[in-house]
Amino acid sequence: MDENKDYLEQRCPRLGGQVSFGYCRMGPDDGAACWKIFDCWWEYFDVVEYLKKYLSEEQFNTLANAGPQPKMVSLVDLIQQAKKRTAAGNR
Ligand code: SF4
Repeated sequence: MDENKDYLEQRCPRLGGQVSFGYCRMGPDDGAACWKIFDCWWEYFDVVEYLKKYLSEEQFNTLANAGPQPKMVSLVDLIQQAKKRTAAGNR
């Protein structure tokens, strides 16, 4: 199996031009992998397994949870934060 995937290229939906997997893995977000890396690369190879091997468990989990939260989750978070603020204000 060819382990080096950094040379693979595709069109980047964020930048609009060709980028390599190596760039996606190391470049765009302050030296960390791009939060869209799973979305962009899953059709080319098993990017999940590849990154699990390459990253520490903590780095992988951070990346897996990066990016915009679904709207419902954000709304639930906002409600919970408001409840906490209200509870803290009533003490
Ligand atoms: S992973 Fe990020 S940098 Fe790479 S192609 Fe997708 S959006 Fe662009």
